[in-house]
Amino acid sequence: MTRLLFIALFFSVLSLSPGARAKLRVVATTPDLASIAHEVGGDEVRVTAIALHTQDPHWVDARPHLALDLAKADLLLAVGLGLEVGWLPTLQTASRNRAIQKGGRGFLDCSTTVKLLEIPKGKVDRSMGDIHPGGNPHYMLDPRRAARVAWGITKRMAELDPDNAGTYKKRGKLFVSKLKRARKAWEKRLAGVRGKKVVTYHRSLVYLADWLGLHVVDHLEPRPGIPPAPRHVAHVIRVARKTHAVAILQESWFPTKVSKLVANKTPLELVILPGAPNYTKGQTYTAFMNTLVGKIKAGVSQ
Ligand SMILES: [Zn+2]
Repeated sequence: MTRLLFIALFFSVLSLSPGARAKLRVVATTPDLASIAHEVGGDEVRVTAIALHTQDPHWVDARPHLALDLAKADLLLAVGLGLEVGWLPTLQTASRNRAIQKGGRGFLDCSTTVKLLEIPKGKVDRSMGDIHPGGNPHYMLDPRRAARVAWGITKRMAELDPDNAGTYKKRGKLFVSKLKRARKAWEKRLAGVRGKKVVTYHRSLVYLADWLGLHVVDHLEPRPGIPPAPRHVAHVIRVARKTHAVAILQESWFPTKVSKLVANKTPLELVILPGAPNYTKGQTYTAFMNTLVGKIKAGVSQ
């Protein structure tokens, strides 16, 4: 009898250890980071995204319930480089969660895992618009860089949850190799766009352009975060004509009024790209990139 009791006790204690342990709680600022974290973490993690896939991640409302989510988070994933500077620090402070503050083991600034573009030389001030002093933060639209980010997330999850380190590493490797295969196929599909000239709305497609060999000749925003004004738009039209640009590319969350106007006055095709995966509906990063590649193929190939 005592032996049975001992066995029963033994198993009840077991059920409280690894198997029943709470999942690693991950909060990502953007849906692209969330999608990747979900794929790497699988059943061992619970991942939520703060910004919606339809939402410009520069501007997110720091609503109080978001601070509550962060209070319970084991890991906070951020794009970094000041992309979330307008809202994330407020939420981090309000969360009172020490682990996810800058420098904490529960905070991963994903920009530290990739090679950056457009690091400004010299002094940066507000007159230059919403310039990011550390470099351009829109690196998630380049699958080569997304692979680096995935591996960075993998390593951090393994560190925070050593019991499942092997599982994270296995899934991380699988994600990276599958993404590489998809990337090769996208590169083949988009070989025809290499060298094409495009205008973009915001300075957010530099990494995409870098990956695909597109040339961004100008931006509709005169400076990052500053809406287009008539004189600048006239200038962009002149540049687009002179350089034989073929398309205006922009993410779905930017306004289209001016872009449509320019597209009407020039041979430029207006191509609206999805800005991030629809994570709440379970869209993966790879499926999202596949859609984006299809839009570029259709709009930039002529
Ligand atoms: Zn930006």
